[in-house]
Amino acid sequence: MSTPINEALIRDVIAEVLGRLGGSAASAPAPAPAANPACGCAHPQRSAPASRGKFGVFQDANEACAAAHEAYLQLCEKGVAGRNKVIQLVKDICYANAAEWGRIELEETKIGRLDHKIEKLKGQRGLPGVEFLHPYALSGDHGITLEEYAPFGVIGAVTPSTHSIPTMACNIITMVAAGNAAVFNAHPGAYKCAMMAARVFNEAIYRELGIENLACIIDPPTLESFAAIGKNEHVKLLCVTGGPGVVAAAMKSGKRAVCAGPGNPPVLVDGTSCLDNAAKCTIFGASWDNNLLCIGEKEVYVLEGVFDKFMAAMEKNGAVRLNDAQVERLAKEAFVFPPGQGAGCPHPVVNRNLLGRDPATLARVAGVTIPQGTELLFAETHADHLFVEEEQMMPFLPIVRVKSVEQGIALAKKAEHGYKHSAIIHSHDVANMTAMAKALETTIFIKNGSCLAGLGTGGEGYGNFSIATTTGEGICNPRTYTRVRRCVMVDKLRIF
Ligand code: NAD
Repeated sequence: MSTPINEALIRDVIAEVLGRLGGSAASAPAPAPAANPACGCAHPQRSAPASRGKFGVFQDANEACAAAHEAYLQLCEKGVAGRNKVIQLVKDICYANAAEWGRIELEETKIGRLDHKIEKLKGQRGLPGVEFLHPYALSGDHGITLEEYAPFGVIGAVTPSTHSIPTMACNIITMVAAGNAAVFNAHPGAYKCAMMAARVFNEAIYRELGIENLACIIDPPTLESFAAIGKNEHVKLLCVTGGPGVVAAAMKSGKRAVCAGPGNPPVLVDGTSCLDNAAKCTIFGASWDNNLLCIGEKEVYVLEGVFDKFMAAMEKNGAVRLNDAQVERLAKEAFVFPPGQGAGCPHPVVNRNLLGRDPATLARVAGVTIPQGTELLFAETHADHLFVEEEQMMPFLPIVRVKSVEQGIALAKKAEHGYKHSAIIHSHDVANMTAMAKALETTIFIKNGSCLAGLGTGGEGYGNFSIATTTGEGICNPRTYTRVRRCVMVDKLRIF
């Protein structure tokens, strides 16, 4: 019986042969052995193995983890200089390919906005690198002690559909800065673009450093491949970015997990600050990438004394207001109630067909015509509306009228569901700011800016697409992916 021809297998075999011959453009020969920068000695490094032609893409999760482990050991040999090189390569590749990759990701996922997909890739340039890992030193009568931020080894990572390549890229930059390798299980609806990007990153890293599989990815990603990554002996840490399902799965894996979980960020407008600025910031944040950001403004509470003025400011700044009937038409389509969930009390689920879609699509569903270029729809709703309660990820914003700051804070806390993700206040009243920050305990709390200020756009600070809310590491940075190791020199080395 003849065996069916497997195209992927043939491609792999050809790539492997070419790799061994050093023949294809992608499989350029490994650089000649050089002095080892890790220790500064003149002895040669382990020479780079011939390429297997995988460039990070593996069908088998265990094979990917083994390859990533090998790459981790190679990265150790390349020292800090090697890490810096990888970081620069990934940043430069993202910047150079931002327009094309943004388009490719949008074509695959069909959610979000092209201009913002491009910005997310270009923005990788601002991420912190190796310089973030300041060791902690102690010096005293008993000598010198140094606490250093050492790598884990291989990290298993899960990325969301909302920012597939950007999350993978920022994970690679941040994890490699800390000296690790990674294996990615991308979202099944957004993995082809991630796979394409991973291959390009690995090819470039191989050409430059002779390391072939520093950022591996599974083709295709499945729940089984996630389970295999979680169980693999080489994987010392998980980092998952996504909704409640993947966070729960990571917590049950038995491995330590950095969990960047869901949010439903509330905004409070108390009327003590500029309402026009509050409206502008809210429109900017809630419309960004069609409200796909986990930090994006998802519901707004406005004190009744300034409610009408705020709604007018929203309209003045280009958002389109829906009436009650239009909101209800939209809500009927925006949420579905799958049978079998909720134990007799059906639980709403956001309709994936409308998630991250543009305002014109939502407006059609709502039965209203809107001017071209409208970035956001909004409406007054009651506090228990589905659009308030659920993390809807659509460019429609529910606005709730409240009688007092206390009521606004209480409702904001309820809508945030204890995710401790992000919250925003527009206020010049320090007492109100403090009360809201204390009540919600969110990882990110922004005053008088858009949600993006929390990730360094319009506010101070570095960004990342993994914000470890559930497990408390905060906005992920190179330190997040390290083990702290102490080295003690007794009674000597202090120079005074
Ligand atoms: P999602 O939860 O549907 O998927 C996220 C990832 O988890 C995907 O790769 C998916 O395949 C995987 N996954 C889901 N359930 C799983 C399970 N049981 N076992 C293993 N893997 C599983 O989320 P999404 O729609 O892709 O992304 C949006 C969600 O992610 C929102 O809730 C958003 O708030 C959150 N998010 C959080 C951050 C953050 O930094 N905190 C960043 C981006 C997105």
